[in-house]
Amino acid sequence: MNKLLVIALFFSVWSCTPKQGSSDKKQVPILPSDTVSFTAPKNIILMIGDGMGLTQITAGMYINGNKLNLEEFKCIGLHKSYASDDLVTDSAAGATAFASGIKTYNGAVGVDDNGNHVPTIMEEAKADGMSTGLVVTSSIVHATPACFYAHEKIRSFKEQIAEDLLESGVDFFVGGGKKYFDRRMADERNLINEFWKKGYYIGDFFEKDYADITMNFKKKFGYFTSDDEPIPYMQGRDYFVEASKDATTFLSRHSKAGFFLVIESSQIDWGGHANNSDYIVTEMIEFDEAIGEIMDFAKKDGETLVIVTADHETGGYAINPGSKMDSIVPAFTTDKHTAALIPVFAWGPGAELFRGIYENTAIYYKMKKALGLGEKEAGHSGIDEVQNGG
Ligand code: MG
Ligand code: ZN
Repeated sequence: MNKLLVIALFFSVWSCTPKQGSSDKKQVPILPSDTVSFTAPKNIILMIGDGMGLTQITAGMYINGNKLNLEEFKCIGLHKSYASDDLVTDSAAGATAFASGIKTYNGAVGVDDNGNHVPTIMEEAKADGMSTGLVVTSSIVHATPACFYAHEKIRSFKEQIAEDLLESGVDFFVGGGKKYFDRRMADERNLINEFWKKGYYIGDFFEKDYADITMNFKKKFGYFTSDDEPIPYMQGRDYFVEASKDATTFLSRHSKAGFFLVIESSQIDWGGHANNSDYIVTEMIEFDEAIGEIMDFAKKDGETLVIVTADHETGGYAINPGSKMDSIVPAFTTDKHTAALIPVFAWGPGAELFRGIYENTAIYYKMKKALGLGEKEAGHSGIDEVQNGG
């Protein structure tokens, strides 16, 4: 997996892989004429701040004493977030773009415009022998995580999405939404029992606090943090940073072939929908704390590519005149999503691929390129596709 890849990048002439974690690897010097080398990572951690536009990041940074862990990232790009049927995307079309490399309609979970299932990078990573994981602050069947393991025509089909999670073989998951598994409207199935039969340990908030769980690295792991949607950070939600860190420990031990982990700070978006600046900022700062833990892991590990981005902006959030660093004056243009360009931050081996301005779908191709997934398949390699992303 650690083969050295040399590819042409028409937009990039410098390396932005940090020194840490790559000192022990052979780096081909930057070649002339618009080419750059990168070392393939063993692991990818994709961190999504739902609804996290530049203003959400800015507000979090100032309120946090003008400092974020995110500032350590040196490879920065921008993506175009629009869906196939609307310039303003929802989280389902947005996450399907990251997970499967296609523009689809708002509400689609892992399906294209015609409702056909499209393979996800998590499925492809699994097929390549990698371990997979999900840590979210929404229910685990919510649109963003669902797009990495489920295929449903409508995001509100949460009980079907729960069945898709059971079938996915994901190795580690932490999030809310227990009721979609064990108190279902559509049938009498208890999917939690079915997970146990498939060799999982499944814990939940009712039985034991997340902090008191002892992990068995030989089993797969799932933990439900709430019956439906978890509460906001401001109201006491406290598992996210710990679970993000635990996911790296668990997945590193679980598979020698590397892992693909998605971590979503789901509720930055909900603060935007509520036009509640304190909600946005507290979720953003918690997300940055998780980013700090992931960076600590990635620096020690040296073979992990970390990507931080959002699916879209929410609220048309602005920091208005009269603001001070510790007390911003917020404003909003809407309680819905907006279509602004979205920042992408990358760190570690392969980070160079994420500079520039590109479609949200390109993130799928760049991650796949970085891991060398499906290199033998026709049509899924080559720089044009990496840049244009279908
Ligand atoms: Mg989401
Ligand atoms: Zn939203």
